[in-house]
Amino acid sequence: MARRSVRTTIHTRTVREGGGFLVRRPAAMGAMMSPFLLLDEMGPVHYGPGEAIGAPDHPHRGFETVTYLLDGCMVHADSAGNSGVLSPGDVQWMTAGRGVIHSELPHPDFLASGGRSHGFQIWVNLPASQKMMAPRYQDVPSASIPEARSDDGGVWAKVIAGSCLGAEAVIDTVLPITYLHLRMEPGATLLQPVAHDLNAMLYLFGGAVEVEGRRVEDGHLALLLPGDEVELTACEDGAELLLLAGPVLDEPIARYGPFVMNTEEEIVQAIEDYRAGILA
Ligand code: MN
Repeated sequence: MARRSVRTTIHTRTVREGGGFLVRRPAAMGAMMSPFLLLDEMGPVHYGPGEAIGAPDHPHRGFETVTYLLDGCMVHADSAGNSGVLSPGDVQWMTAGRGVIHSELPHPDFLASGGRSHGFQIWVNLPASQKMMAPRYQDVPSASIPEARSDDGGVWAKVIAGSCLGAEAVIDTVLPITYLHLRMEPGATLLQPVAHDLNAMLYLFGGAVEVEGRRVEDGHLALLLPGDEVELTACEDGAELLLLAGPVLDEPIARYGPFVMNTEEEIVQAIEDYRAGILA
């Protein structure tokens, strides 16, 4: 078995998204992040009463948006007639496919009360053959998402996609994606298999980990080199991170705002379809 080491680490920038909320976002690395297109850490931020903001109606085509909430409460509604509430620990895995128009907003009660808001949205690209698939929506409550703990108790994992410490995810993904939320006590170690044909990366949002002697700090994305497994050791303050992996899509990317296709013609078509009201 070959251990994966760190290829490079990327800083996050803080930018405004949607209706103006702040996100921490690693600089886009194009093909190096494939099949992931974007990773946004939303907050953490404390909203006063009436202050919480989200993203009102907007379209997507050609990829998936995956929202994982840690704090706060959001409501989703889309043009396919799906709607749901996201509470802490819940995941919404939305496959936009040929087109969805949706809104992602603070729940009215959360808007009224204010409070801490924190979560993630990642974009997962779809292969050319699946970009125009029928939209699909998986709203998975926290209680249905498997969790696992290492024998010594030092590692806790929430298995959103893939498997970890004997727990298997329940969410169905188009590509073979691994999406783990890990919390590690100081000095704890995890040896996680990651199939050699998957592109793997870590996003630290608390503490730090060491991977083959290289330290990865809070607010950094670490792209990993090829291998069959990765060994993580939490540093002195412990660590909290996402581990993401998926197959590289060796296909051209044409990207315009909320549309991610393979060619400029397909982007023009998406814009025309949206304007004509036939995207979704
Ligand atoms: Mn969206």
